[in-house]
Amino acid sequence: MPSRADLHTHTTYSDGVLTPTQLIDLAYSKGVRILALTDHDTTDGLPEAIEAARKYPDFLLIPGVEMSTDVPGNEVHILGYFIRWQDPNFQEQLARLRDSRVIRARRMVDKLAQLGIRISWERVLEVAGDGSIGRPHIAQVLVEEGYVGSVNEAFQLYLGRNAPAYVEREKLTPAEVVQLLRKVQGICVLAHPRELIAQLDSLLPQLKEVGLVGMEVYYQDYTPEEMEVLLRWARKYDLIPLGGSDYHGLGGPQQREPGDIPLPEEPVQQFLEVAKVQGSFLPA
Ligand code: AMP
Ligand code: ZN
Ligand code: FE
Ligand code: FE
Repeated sequence: MPSRADLHTHTTYSDGVLTPTQLIDLAYSKGVRILALTDHDTTDGLPEAIEAARKYPDFLLIPGVEMSTDVPGNEVHILGYFIRWQDPNFQEQLARLRDSRVIRARRMVDKLAQLGIRISWERVLEVAGDGSIGRPHIAQVLVEEGYVGSVNEAFQLYLGRNAPAYVEREKLTPAEVVQLLRKVQGICVLAHPRELIAQLDSLLPQLKEVGLVGMEVYYQDYTPEEMEVLLRWARKYDLIPLGGSDYHGLGGPQQREPGDIPLPEEPVQQFLEVAKVQGSFLPA
């Protein structure tokens, strides 16, 4: 059975910098043997990823997606794995969310202008390319234009959840997102919950009821102490502790390379077992 797993990565199809092929080649070269592609609100990178993964017989590519929601004062991201992504209704929902991302990004650029920070909307669209547009694209243009020194600083000063140019996204609740993913057999995992700890006692039972099975514990820049705390939360609610690098390739102090966050073998096997039992092993 393959072992080294990274269950959270992004590509040019959303706000990452590598194409699916480049990502898979890089991950494989770093010893990753189970990789989930989890672009924001899009599965358009999956055909290329599936093709790229063909050349590695000992490599498992898991079709995934990351979907974002806002709750009062915070963001909640949900990862869906082994999704039956070709489902037309699901694709329609994703297309709608991507459309609303464009409107939201435009509003953030307008909000920046009100703050005296004028960046070109056309340039933001250009940086986003055909992919699902997001704040990192705006951040990159802010860097290009010299308004900030790094993507990170762009988030701190302007684009972060509580910063002045932030605009909320379309109102889907976390439970609605889980339900949407369950309709296409998605195995649902709560992403990077560190900032949500104060809300977990209300959030987790609610999400478990609609089908959440896991929670990210081993994540990017989380310290061993933070992971220990999150592991206790996962145990409390009987959620599989998973995670990944959330690799985007944008650099910055919190960036980890694909495969840099080791996941313990047992929960990964447990996760794959859930997929098997559900009959959703191996993408079509
Ligand atoms: P969006 O999907 O437009 O809401 O943007 C969310 C994405 O922005 C995340 O997936 C990260 O890639 C990135 N992001 C969020 N917070 C930060 C931060 N503080 N520094 C750098 N990137 C961030
Ligand atoms: Zn992202
Ligand atoms: Fe996220
Ligand atoms: Fe992510």
